[in-house]
Amino acid sequence: MSKEIQHILASLPSVDVLLKQLGSDYPQGAAKEGIQKVLASIRKEVIDGTQKNVIDQAEVLTMIKKELTEKQFSLRRVINGTGTVIHTNLGRSSLSQKIQEQLVATSFHYSNLEFDLASGKRGSRYSHLVAIVKKLTGAEDVLVVNNNAAAVLLVLSTLTQEKEVLVSRGELVEIGGAFRIPDVITSSGGTIKEVGTTNKTHLADYETALTEETGAVLKVHTSNYRIVGFAETPELSELAELAHANDLPLINDLGSGLLLDMRPFGLPYEPTVKEVLDQGCDVVTFSGDKLLGGPQAGIIVGKREYIEKMKKNQLLRALRIDKMTLSALEATLALYLNEKEALQAIPALQMIGLSEADCLAKATELAAMLKPISGLSVAVEKDSSKIGGGSYPEHLLPTYAVVLNGQQYSAVELQEKLREGATPIISRIKNEANLLDVRTIASDEFSLIQKSLQAIFKEGKEEK
Ligand SMILES: *Cc1c(COP(=O)(O)O)cnc(C)c1O
Repeated sequence: MSKEIQHILASLPSVDVLLKQLGSDYPQGAAKEGIQKVLASIRKEVIDGTQKNVIDQAEVLTMIKKELTEKQFSLRRVINGTGTVIHTNLGRSSLSQKIQEQLVATSFHYSNLEFDLASGKRGSRYSHLVAIVKKLTGAEDVLVVNNNAAAVLLVLSTLTQEKEVLVSRGELVEIGGAFRIPDVITSSGGTIKEVGTTNKTHLADYETALTEETGAVLKVHTSNYRIVGFAETPELSELAELAHANDLPLINDLGSGLLLDMRPFGLPYEPTVKEVLDQGCDVVTFSGDKLLGGPQAGIIVGKREYIEKMKKNQLLRALRIDKMTLSALEATLALYLNEKEALQAIPALQMIGLSEADCLAKATELAAMLKPISGLSVAVEKDSSKIGGGSYPEHLLPTYAVVLNGQQYSAVELQEKLREGATPIISRIKNEANLLDVRTIASDEFSLIQKSLQAIFKEGKEEK
């Protein structure tokens, strides 16, 4: 072995030194393994001559961090700096910290999932939600499946098999992820019967479309678009009257499923689940992880006679939810029993509820934490956030963002660096700068952002 090679090998930092430098960001066992793996590969390269220079400690550390980050988990926590509250790519709603204890208790131990504690006999997993859903929406019964797409599929395949489903031409919705109402109706075994026109559908249009073959009237919430201007649809109560006069159910796919009136936040009026039930809808479906702020789930509420039929559908077994979802959903719904608590404890609602002044205060605080980082220029700028998840498509919320410009990085490079950290940070690029919209960033995430940017700019300096 040449003197040169010996010199390079001797200059490599020890495992202990590297462990200390890594700090507490990574689990000890994994950190040690990662360090040993990286050091071994460097030694190999030095010995076979592909690595001819002394590698400094910072560079070794960067290689180890990369190795550890890639090795940890594939599905990871991220910081959402996009400002879009219900971001489908980032997991939609995050759960309330308040439900953690309940979720842990029922998931890490046995539970009475399908066991009736009163009689000691077999019970139903869906029974746990009946009382609370009745309190919050007035519904007679409830059934929960994997997501709202599955809910719509189950409802239609139970109630409108080989029948015609009346839907307004203005409500033939595509949600994204290939969920299209006409296709769902077809795959559930029903036939779609389009009613009215794109912009106007009258009660009389439904009336003339009714035949012996009709199985249900379906209303679909136009979650992600609006038909404005010369537009009209009948009142839900009129539609319910027509359906009931013909012994048919009125089904309403609400999409987001509001349990609270959001107008106090300056948002436009959207009907709540209770309101559409009160107006005569027989079956209502909505998501658990949109504005409700719970786990991914499809919730079906309404008349017992219809829900009983769905419980007997073989399809339910394939669509059924697991105990963690059920527990998270029940605990989230329980927060709604106190509206004030729900608005604070459910992250999606809390973020939507932040005022412009709240956002300015948060942005100012984060900016102050980042300003001392050399090589990074920081500013606070007014911007707007989206609600997302196909909710309130036209409505923007006034917000403030922290604007980041790195002297030695382009906007795209900095965006990549932000994604590469131990906790990836997802930013938005606007006018060649990275924006972190503080609406969707919790204050206790600020220190993670600070750490990440400190590392990015320290590393940048050493590269120069
Ligand atoms: C979002 C949405 C769906 C799909 O719900 P998932 O929970 O994503 O399956 C169906 N219908 C409407 C109207 C929606 O807004």
